[in-house]
Amino acid sequence: MKYDVAIIGAGPGGIFSAYELLKLNKNLKIIMLEAGAELDKRKCPIDGVKIKSCIKCPTCSIMNGFGGAGAFSDGKYNITNDFGGTLYKYIGKSEAISLMEYVDSINVANGGNKTKLYDNNNSEIKRLCLQNGLTLLNAKVRHLGTDINYVVMNNIYNQLKDKLEIKFLTPVEDIEDNNGTYIIKTSKESFEAGNCIISAGRSGSKWMEKICHSMNIETKSNRVDIGVRVELPGIIFKHLTDELYESKIICRTEKYEDSVRTFCMNPYGRVVQENTNGIITVNGHSYDDPKLRTDNTNFAILVSKAFSEPFKDSNEYGESIARLSNMLGGGVLVQRFGDLISGKRSNDDRIKNGYVVPTLKATPGDLSLVLPKRILDGIIEFIYRLDKIAPGTANADTLLYGVEVKFYNMEVKLDNNLETDHKGLFVIGDCSGITHSLSHASASGIYVARHIASNINN
Ligand SMILES: Cc1cc2nc3c(=O)[nH]c(=O)nc-3n(C[C@H](O)[C@H](O)[C@H](O)COP(=O)(O)OP(=O)(O)OC[C@H]3O[C@@H](n4cnc5c(N)ncnc54)[C@H](O)[C@@H]3O)c2cc1C
Repeated sequence: MKYDVAIIGAGPGGIFSAYELLKLNKNLKIIMLEAGAELDKRKCPIDGVKIKSCIKCPTCSIMNGFGGAGAFSDGKYNITNDFGGTLYKYIGKSEAISLMEYVDSINVANGGNKTKLYDNNNSEIKRLCLQNGLTLLNAKVRHLGTDINYVVMNNIYNQLKDKLEIKFLTPVEDIEDNNGTYIIKTSKESFEAGNCIISAGRSGSKWMEKICHSMNIETKSNRVDIGVRVELPGIIFKHLTDELYESKIICRTEKYEDSVRTFCMNPYGRVVQENTNGIITVNGHSYDDPKLRTDNTNFAILVSKAFSEPFKDSNEYGESIARLSNMLGGGVLVQRFGDLISGKRSNDDRIKNGYVVPTLKATPGDLSLVLPKRILDGIIEFIYRLDKIAPGTANADTLLYGVEVKFYNMEVKLDNNLETDHKGLFVIGDCSGITHSLSHASASGIYVARHIASNINN
């Protein structure tokens, strides 16, 4: 059987491309191949009692399966060209925003109708930031929350599941271009398709590199963002989070002129650990349901680094730092800001006596043994600047979890249709290296679906 379209990966990129393809032409024969499990079968074994830390399952339920890395995320869909990816460079700014708005309307129609759309174009907070050497980036953000995000994914799954073939626990091993027909190979069988959309996300980054290499698709190195996740009493950031939910604030450090920013803010949320290719890093999420909220707000502070010559592998640099923290802490490390500043390792007692109750069980340690000086200096400088717009950020009991690393896939050479030099082979979402967020990945799926549907319909 030859399919019209094969979609590799059932994350937001893959899901929204399938959604739009079927909306535009319900007769298309589509197959979706996903390395992980169905949404309701995705369960991380860490229960905090019998299994306290990552046991490195063959497929990670947090990262793989229907919904992709976004399934248990905070479900913050940012509508902006200022961050979250560079899709606009390929398709134009207004098209990118209009696709993100369209994705938002689908989420709203599928269970997100009671959630709030925040708009951060607030001049008062912007002014406060600028007066303190910080810049607040423009964005609208729909906060679905981990709970509603799940409902939306489940509703979309129920709509799609009988209209296309979905094969779970089926990682694609190889792709072959047979004169414009794609042979998609798994360990058990092969599938033929006229068009192939690759949407393998961050967890598929190493596999994507292998495919680019074997198919002679050019790639170029991307940046890596390294830092910590900050956890503090929610009340300290209340004036920002009530108004904006998430504030993306950036600055350039004085000495090194590095770009430092806040990332993934979770009001009244939880710090969680994340497993990327076996490396344990930290992340965070929060819930829409007030009953599931905590007293703390968490967000990342990240310093961006890119390398050129002779060392180009930014991800390897980030991985080495994360491995070092895993070596010292057996997973995630946590340190009080006061201990970091006074050059002391945090220990259980000091964490217990602090007034910020950690929401993640992590190993008390010393982040200065893990993070390079330049990165640590940038984080400390940024915390003191944030303290001016949200006094209390630099309190001694503020918790810093490390390390948080944002890996970006190598940038794949694509044309303005997000198509490779192989006609009919498209790369979308985070595995393309051009999106890094739910809304950009989803928008790229819609964009490519429209292009393929119009080619087929004509
Ligand atoms: C804990 C967490 C919280 C996050 N919170 C947010 C947030 O609030 N807002 C935001 O904008 N972004 C957030 N993100 C990032 C966001 O989830 C991603 O940007 C988004 O999911 C990317 O979508 P994607 O479809 O490109 O890739 P993914 O969601 O990673 O999906 C890719 C899918 O492809 C599958 N796959 C990989 N390789 C293969 C293969 N060889 N064969 C078959 N299948 C394969 C994977 O199993 C996966 O299911 C978060 C990420 C995490 C981990």
